[in-house]
Amino acid sequence: MKVIETDGIVLKTMDFKENDSILTFLTSEAGKIAGVLHGGKSSRSGNSAKKELFVTNHLEFSIKTGTELVRIRKCELLVSHAKIRQNYSKFLHACYLSELLLFCEIPAVESADYFKLLTRTISELSEFDNSAEVKLNFEIQLLKLLGISPSLISCIVCGNLLWVRNEGKLMSTIHSVPYQLDPIQGGIRCPNCCINSLYTSTLNPGSLSFLYNSQFERNNGSKIKPTQNNLEELDQALNLYFINFFGKKLKSYSLLKENSWKN
Ligand SMILES: [Zn+2]
Repeated sequence: MKVIETDGIVLKTMDFKENDSILTFLTSEAGKIAGVLHGGKSSRSGNSAKKELFVTNHLEFSIKTGTELVRIRKCELLVSHAKIRQNYSKFLHACYLSELLLFCEIPAVESADYFKLLTRTISELSEFDNSAEVKLNFEIQLLKLLGISPSLISCIVCGNLLWVRNEGKLMSTIHSVPYQLDPIQGGIRCPNCCINSLYTSTLNPGSLSFLYNSQFERNNGSKIKPTQNNLEELDQALNLYFINFFGKKLKSYSLLKENSWKN
């Protein structure tokens, strides 16, 4: 039996028996794990605050081979991020992030990167009111971690280069008419290769440039701000991209869209 001590963020919580909860955590050392938190449903046990979504706990658990659930030996609340659960829009955005992560296969050796990304994103969601932008930055980084970032250098069909260098550090597209993100081909269709299909999404030059410049962002501290149009186009395009990759829809995405007027 192996005992692991690490931090874990609650991605999912499910009632179990009369007083207990089954929690799924993203840990910083062991990928995703699930285990029973005794007294998770009872406020008297002092454990109920630890089972809330996106709470970070310090965990000690043991893994027994052949069983799906780990045995949680210690669970101490580190950060509660209550603000996320007090604001409906923030909460829905966070639900979308957790659903994405629940779909991902996260090898233990890569846990730290995913954990760092989620920790940073949860703090940003909690502190700032630009949830749509926080979500988009998360998605772009998640695609990188999964190794499925769309190929943006040249057209995925004809191979023509898509970019010219501006005077500054940023790149802009050669054409000034819409391009398409094609999730099946995993890249961009230039205006000459655009097709009429439900599976592709339109990206105007501004949104494509934003995607390119964020994907290849050097750590020079200058963060590019997306416009409202960039946010809307990339929201739709990346959602289709994830649906294609995971082979299923994200339930929390429709909720997010239904309530977007509340943002
Ligand atoms: Zn082309």
